[in-house]
Amino acid sequence: MNPVSNQNQSVILPGATVGILGGGQLGRMIALEGRKMGYRFVTLDPTPDSPCGQVSDTQIVASFTDVAAAQRLAEQCDVITYEFENVDAEVARILETHSNVPQGSRLLRTTQHRVREKSALQAHGIPVTPFLPAASLDELLRACRELGFPCVLKTSTGGYDGKGQWLLHNLEEAQLAWEEFSSKWTGPEHSDLSQRSPSAADESIHTGGKDAPGNSLDAPLVVEKFISFTKELSVVVARSVRGEVKSFPVAENIHVHHILHQSIVPARTTLEIELEARSIAQRIATQLNVVGLIAVEMFLTPDGQIFVNELAPRPHNSGHFTYDVCETSQFEQHLRAICNLPLGSAKLLTPVVMVNVLGQHVQPLLQAVPNLPDNVKIHLYGKKDAKPGRKMGHVCILAEDVEQALTQADSLGIWEMEN
Ligand code: AMP
Repeated sequence: MNPVSNQNQSVILPGATVGILGGGQLGRMIALEGRKMGYRFVTLDPTPDSPCGQVSDTQIVASFTDVAAAQRLAEQCDVITYEFENVDAEVARILETHSNVPQGSRLLRTTQHRVREKSALQAHGIPVTPFLPAASLDELLRACRELGFPCVLKTSTGGYDGKGQWLLHNLEEAQLAWEEFSSKWTGPEHSDLSQRSPSAADESIHTGGKDAPGNSLDAPLVVEKFISFTKELSVVVARSVRGEVKSFPVAENIHVHHILHQSIVPARTTLEIELEARSIAQRIATQLNVVGLIAVEMFLTPDGQIFVNELAPRPHNSGHFTYDVCETSQFEQHLRAICNLPLGSAKLLTPVVMVNVLGQHVQPLLQAVPNLPDNVKIHLYGKKDAKPGRKMGHVCILAEDVEQALTQADSLGIWEMEN
């Protein structure tokens, strides 16, 4: 409750209380890092004893759409953040008008919808995967013809870990995907009418006033050109209230069954690509007026081109390595950014491979724990139900070089099912 002024903007000093919308592992790691610095935490999540609730001072158990509960959170906190992008944007907007939400709700609305996100990036000259929005079967078929086969059809909202995506090879598959979408994906988040679009004025700030090619920014589907990439890369970048920008080293990401399996850092690529990827991420943070973190997922093609695939305005799974091997973790950096502190050094201290621990890996990991080598760091998120495919934790393997860490990951025998 005692902000001091820096460059005309208040600094939220340690001792203040941070509210987190969302009680998952990202919030948990923000709170763990923030407690070290002396901040206090209140989290809001519908599940009692959530991963973040376990390490916060208090948890408010309520739905993310419960505006009254969000207001109770605001009353107890000096600053509010969110830890996942599907926080109800309306709740974030209401909070923003009554309390301190440095990240704002505008970026959240942009990144909650693939067409809006890609259009905003395109308007700022950022290289994005070529795309066309589709709001009808006709538009879908036209987009497929224009972009060519194979192409990737995605729902504009609600898809994650490969859900809500179709790889299309011909017009018949496009028609079948349309039928599946029309019958299955009829939830409120896919209805145009319920999209609670930002005002045209709001949107034009992000898209530079330009509409998406061909159709509306609210189309429920987007068709993308298939990129035959050689690597998937990501960069987490922070921008603070005072406008300071710092990016973390590039991660090379390996997915198994559409879920992140490993992040390899440094990415096995050239210095030129490393610098280009970080520069793209930094431009995005600046041009979209990001406050806090933004994770930028990218495809690298064989001829060295980079295409941005998607954004996440929060700490990212592919940035978990920073917790163990960067001078400042992405979680601490996020707090520094939203509290308007100077950003910390993002320097990498040692090569690392981060490997996710899903539900099916928990028992093998626990069996391996008594004999784990001293360079393997364990993170478990305090979730009770170890369902297959559910993110339960991760490990970081620190080594002289990433090839050694990869070999060691194989030899631990925890992820045999995936290989
Ligand atoms: P997304 O939900 O957009 O992150 O996509 C999930 C995964 O599908 C990505 O990590 C890629 O492996 C793959 N993918 C998505 N879009 C494309 C694309 N346009 N071309 C090739 N692969 C893609």
